[in-house]
Parts: sequence; structure tokens; C-alpha cells
Amino acid sequence: MTQNIKDFVKKVAIKNPGEVEFIQAVQEVAENIIPFIDKNEKYQNKMLLERMVEPERVLIFRVPWVDDRGETNVNRGYRVEFNSAIGPYKGGLRFHPSVNLSILKFLGFEQVFKNSLTTLPMGGGKGGSDFNPKAKSDNEIMNFCQSFMLELSKHIGPNTDVPAGDIGVGAREIGYMFGQYKRIRNEFTGVLTGKGINWGGSLIRPEATGYGNVYFAQNMLEVHQESFSGKTVVISGSGNVAQYACEKATELGAKVVALSDSSGYIYDPAGIDSQKLKYVMHLKNVKRGRISEYAKEYNCVFKKGTPWVIACDIALPCATQNELNLDDAQTLVSNGCICVSEGANMPTTPDAIEFFINEKILFAPGKASNAGGVATSGLEMSQNSLRINWTREEVDSKLKEIMKNIHSSCVRYGKDKDFINYVKGANIAGFVKVADAMLDQGIV
Ligand code: NDP
Repeated sequence: MTQNIKDFVKKVAIKNPGEVEFIQAVQEVAENIIPFIDKNEKYQNKMLLERMVEPERVLIFRVPWVDDRGETNVNRGYRVEFNSAIGPYKGGLRFHPSVNLSILKFLGFEQVFKNSLTTLPMGGGKGGSDFNPKAKSDNEIMNFCQSFMLELSKHIGPNTDVPAGDIGVGAREIGYMFGQYKRIRNEFTGVLTGKGINWGGSLIRPEATGYGNVYFAQNMLEVHQESFSGKTVVISGSGNVAQYACEKATELGAKVVALSDSSGYIYDPAGIDSQKLKYVMHLKNVKRGRISEYAKEYNCVFKKGTPWVIACDIALPCATQNELNLDDAQTLVSNGCICVSEGANMPTTPDAIEFFINEKILFAPGKASNAGGVATSGLEMSQNSLRINWTREEVDSKLKEIMKNIHSSCVRYGKDKDFINYVKGANIAGFVKVADAMLDQGIV
């Protein structure tokens, strides 16, 4: 790292004490953007990166709610409205006990670059709460969502800020929050994405992040005349992103042998076929059970920890941040892994990313490879505005095209002789569009 990058990161760290994940995300971007600015006069002396690391607005609010025993609970709600240079703030809501300002600022910052890469007119934001949805009844989830939206509704709108789902926020939570927004505002608008299909949702939105990640990996593999066909794939997580990554990889002829959750991973050498995936979807989305139950059902291994010890050709981290470290990266590569495509946000630690790049592994950063979700949210917003519904095939083909274009943008800015540095490519391509808009709009 050069001295001016170190100085920049140090200043951000002093201004944002204790925000470890946010500093990590800023450093990863600064390492590519500061040298790029140094070579491009147009972006110099405008404090562009300094302005970009400062959210336009951060909202923090109290969320009181009553549980089934009649007891009062209180959680903290957040919305980080990071950057609106190219469109209304757009980004998910995460409900998880680990949620804090640092995590939401890292996610919001990443979202700015990701949304820019999609080529759609969406700014970046992120929000959520330290509420833990695990083991709560539907009624408790509804009470919480209604209280959360009572405050959030004052700050969002279809042309201002359009939240979506993330960890712990799926179709059920989006439904409760949309219902409450509609009641408060007396307005039926596309204020959230990930909506139910018969009340404004888009086909393929639930599948989009997982499918998009596999499409992106497919684009990377094609550069090397490779494909998913016949490959062994390891996936972490067993939520929304992991499930549909598993479905698409299998459809393309790969064998997915592992999935995980926060208690451990299952290893099924026979492969998780469509029948077994149906079981996983019911287990995680309806029963809200643990992945260990899969091992009992299909008589295979369940172990604590992460699944990166399993030999594979392709690894798709689809659970959470910093879930794949340097040891894991070394194990994956020594076991023959050739491609790592992030479905989750920032799942790979910085030293592991550096290792993959030095080893010339095909490595896709989440801000490029998981952008299919927000891109399809953008398509949901378009359909809402036009009051039309596209078919499954139409949305899927637009998604494929968007992922292909993101891949091309990464190649454009990340190609270095015989190697494509997708991290550098994604950071610079994401930066350019937002920076140009900020230059046009003056000092705001
Ligand atoms: P879900 O809540 O549907 O699933 C999350 C999965 O990750 C679950 O299997 C969960 O296990 C596991 N997990 C969560 N926290 C941890 C942890 N600390 N350690 C190990 N495993 C953990 O979320 P999504 O699938 O929607 O999101 C997964 C990732 O993808 C996140 O990083 C998210 O930001 C990112 N993403 C999601 C998008 C979307 O459209 N949904 C879009 C772009 C990125 P358990 O069941 O035990 O909690």
C-alpha cells in the first residue's frame, strides 16, 4: 500500500472509530481508486473519494415492539443513505443481532459501487436492525416490522429511497413492511422491492442474486474456455442467495456438494439435486430449521465451521462478511479450486483476496458478482413505474445481459496483460459513473 493510500485510510479510521468493517471496505476501494485518480486529472482536487466515504445521511431510531408474552422489547433501527448521485438510494435491510453502524456503512458503501455497475439509475443505501428474527412467531415479526416501518416511512419513498431484503429480511418481512407503509401513507407505490408477485413484485427477483452470481462466474469461466458443466461446487449459506446459486449451478451441469448455515456445513458427495434443494428451501424458508437436519434426512456429513475444507473446482461464498479467510483460501487453492465468485457482501478477507489474485484464481468481488439482485430490483422499479409485468424469460434475459455487461466493465478496467483483476475492474468501473455524476452536480 502506498503512503497516500495509508494516509487516506488512516484519516477515515480516525473519523469513524471502531468501524472495522467499514474501514475494511473503504481500504479495498481506496487501493484501486487512489492510483486511478492519480493518473486521471479530471478526478483530481475535487475531494471525490473523501466525499464518497461520507454518507449523505445516517438515520438511527428506536424500534419498540411487544412480544407474544405481552412484554415490551426495544431494538435499534438504521438507514444509511449513502450516495444519491445517480439515482434514489437503493439497498437492502438486514435484520440480524450483529447489525451495527459499521456493518451497515460497509454495506451501504459497497452498494454505491455495485448499483453503479448495474448501469441502472440507483444510488446506494443500506439499513436494518439488530433485531433477531430467529425463533420469533409470525405475529412478533409483524409487530417488529410495523414498528420499524412506522419510523422508516418518514424517510423513504419511490423517488427517494427504495429498500429491499437482505439477511433476515425475505418475502414475509417485505410484505409486513409494505402493508404498514401503505397504511401510513395511503399510497400504493414501489417503495420496497422484493414484493409478492401479485402485489407489484417482479418474477425472478427471489432468484436474481444467486442466478446472477452464477452467470457472472460463467462469464469468467468462458474467458478461459471453461464452464460449470462437470464441475464440483461448494456453496456457503443456505438462505436466499445460496439456494438459487445452487439451483442455477446444478442446472448448468455442476454438482453442488455443500451448503451451510451459522451452525456448520453439510457435505453431500452425491450432490444436492433439485429434489434435495426443494427440501432445503422448505427447511429454511418455511420450517425455519437448521441445515444439520439435511444431514439426517440424506444420511451425509454435518460438521461445525465453514465448508472451504471440501475439495472443489468452484467456491461460491453466499452467507456473510469475512467468512473465507487466508487459511481457507490456501486450502481451496491447494485442493484445485479455480474460481471464487462472491454471492455475499465482502465474504472474503483482504489477505485471502490478495492470495487469490496472486495465484491468478478467477476471483469475483461481490459488488460485481452479486449485483444481479439489486439489478432485478431496478427492473422491479421500472415495471412498477410503467405498471406492467415482464415475463420470467424477459427478466431472466435482462439479468443475464446485465451480468454480462458488468463482466465487460470489470474486464475494461481490470485487464492487466494476461490476467483480469476483477476487484480493480469493479472498483474503477463503479467509481467512474458516480464520480462523473458528482462532478456534474457540483459540490453537494
Ligand atoms: P438469508 O438470510 O436468506 O441467508 C443468510 C444465510 O447465511 C443463512 O444460511 C445464514 O445462516 C447464513 N449466515 C448468516 N450469518 C452468518 C454468520 N455470521 N456465519 C455463518 N453463516 C451465517 O440472506 P441472503 O441469502 O439474502 O444473504 C446472504 C448474503 O448475500 C449476505 O451477505 C447479503 O448481504 C448478500 N446479498 C444478498 C442479496 C439478496 O438479494 N438477498 C443481494 C446481494 C447480496 P442461519 O440460517 O444460521 O442464520
